[in-house]
Parts: sequence; C-alpha cells; structure tokens
Amino acid sequence: MTTRKITYPHFGNYCIPIEYLMTKGLDSQYVTPPPITKKTLELGSKHSPDYVCAPFKIHLGCYIEAIEKGANALVQLGGACRLGYYGELHEQIIKDLGYDVDFINLAKGDYSKPQTFYAEFKKINPEMSLTKATSALLTSLKMVECMDTVDDFVRRNIGFEIIKGSFEDMYADYLAALKHVESRKELEYLTSNYMKRFKAIPVKTPKNPLKVGIVGEYYSIMEPFSNHNMERELAGMGMVIERWMNISNSLFHFQEKEMLTKIRGYSKYNMGATSMSTIERALQFAKKGYDGIIHLKSFGCTPEMDAMPVLQNISADYKIPVLYFSFDSQTSDEGVKTRLEAFYDMIKMRKEAGR
Ligand code: SF4
Repeated sequence: MTTRKITYPHFGNYCIPIEYLMTKGLDSQYVTPPPITKKTLELGSKHSPDYVCAPFKIHLGCYIEAIEKGANALVQLGGACRLGYYGELHEQIIKDLGYDVDFINLAKGDYSKPQTFYAEFKKINPEMSLTKATSALLTSLKMVECMDTVDDFVRRNIGFEIIKGSFEDMYADYLAALKHVESRKELEYLTSNYMKRFKAIPVKTPKNPLKVGIVGEYYSIMEPFSNHNMERELAGMGMVIERWMNISNSLFHFQEKEMLTKIRGYSKYNMGATSMSTIERALQFAKKGYDGIIHLKSFGCTPEMDAMPVLQNISADYKIPVLYFSFDSQTSDEGVKTRLEAFYDMIKMRKEAGR
C-alpha cells in the first residue's frame, strides 16, 4: 500500500492537532500545506463555482498546493452548514483536474462519539489500533482546547504589550513547542508553563480600554488570511478584542436550547451554521457595554446574511455600532484597514463623548 501522506487545509493553527492525530494516532505522514497566499485563493477560485463561499475556494487552493507538495490523501472536517457537503464537491473537482488522491471525509463522523470515525480512520491506516487512534483523537481535541485558551488570553492582552512583538514571539514559540508534544500530560504541562509566561509579559492596560467583540462565520473568524489579519490590526490600535467563536466553544459549549432562550425577542429560530451564536454573542457584547461589534462573513454566506438584520436591531436597541465585513477574493488589505481605522476613530470619539 502507498504510504498515506495526509493533508488538511490551513484553518488558523488547527493543523497542529490534526497533524498530531494523523501521525501519532494513525501512523501516517502529514504534509502541511504551504502558507495561504493570494495565489492559493486564486488557484481555488479558478476551479470553484463562482458563487460558492470563500472557505470552499481557500480549501481547494490549499488542497491543490498540498498535493503538489506530495500529499496523496485529503482530510475534510465538515461543519454545520454546506461545509458538510464540501467534501464530495472538492473530491469531484480534484478528480476532474486529474489528481489521483484519496479523500477522508470526517464529516461522516460525530465529534462527541469518537467511535463514529472508525471507518474513515481505517481508510487512512487499515492496520490502525483503535485504542491508539482514540487516545490520539482525545489528545488532539485537548490540544485544540489548550490552543483556544492561550489564544483568548493573547487576544485580550496583545493590544497593550509594552514591548512590541512580545506576544507574537512567545505565541510562535508555543506553537513550535506544541508540534513536539508526545502525550496529553506533556501538552498540559507545556500549556500551563506557557500560560505563566504569557501572564508575565509586561502590559500597560488603560483603566477603561476600548472593547470590541467579534462575531460571525467560522472560517472568516478563525483563519487570519481570510479576515486580513483583522485581530492583529485591531490589537495594534490598542483595544481589548473578544470572540467566543473557536473550535472548542463551537464543538463542546454550543447549547442550542440555551442560546435560543437567550436571544428570544430577537430570533425565534436557529438560522443555521454560526448565525445563532453570532446573535447571542452580539447581544452579550451589547449588554456588557462593549464599544463596538465587528461582524465577519464570507460573501455568499447565507446563515450569516440572515443574522445581519437581527444585529441591526440589537445595534439600534443598545446603541452599539456594528461594522460589517463580507469577504471575497477581491477584498483588499488596504480597504479593510481603512474601514477599521474609521471604525476605531468613531468608537473612540463616542467613548470620549460618554455615549
Ligand atoms: S458558514 Fe457560511 S461561509 Fe462558512 S462554510 Fe458555511 S456557508 Fe460558507
């Protein structure tokens, strides 16, 4: 049998736990796709249906670049919207392009029941040990949780670092160290050690800093290329940045019934994908007196389009400004930066005027 050289498209830094699962749990090789660039997006867009959302195009571009780097098996993770059907469509396009690769579609499993991944894991390594794979899956999920905890802390504090680059540098070290973790015990030790080091970074936080909450669609929020590195841009302006949306929250802490109760009065139904958490979080940010909300989505993302009128109602009721971004392959870094600067000036003036 040809050795499996597995790949998964970039999605923030979540390639690291996926690599852990593939190498430690399933004894396969892992090919990290080249970093996402404009070329990746162009490549993906060229072979995608025009009106499909940007995550589809970026994923396709990443797959093709990884195949050219030697990958021969592509992992698809799935999601709560049409992302769950992307696997089949990507597979068809990639086969039509003449690539001879295998697809491992984890959208067929259920993350709360690790045993449901058995059939797909078997495709990766028919001689796999179920115990080993389950243990690696649990460790990689724990890794996701650790990364999200560190990320939250960095996001809240990076805007106030005294020595520019302190958080970024330490974060890069943490990610590099994560790649060498061998067990859950090591992972927990490493993360708690780094958390202490992050907490020791000198910061100068003003008494009443500007606070912005970010809401929106999975991929546009979690993949910095997709949102033009927005969180770092905002941090550079000196603000607290808060976002709930990450993999561990959406996998383990999403309570549909509870959320629906909280947003009663604004929405009666779950409109799919991330729309409900977008509304619920925006409402929380408004109630907690945040200075602004930024809504991110890909062009053509129907669930988030449905959430936008609801956000306008929240904005009107709580007098909180909302800045909307809809990304496509034509969005420019400069355009995003200009709008963010104008938003920053506006929320700063409002705060100074006591509104
Ligand atoms: S949530 Fe929206 S942008 Fe994301 S994959 Fe689904 S439809 Fe596309």
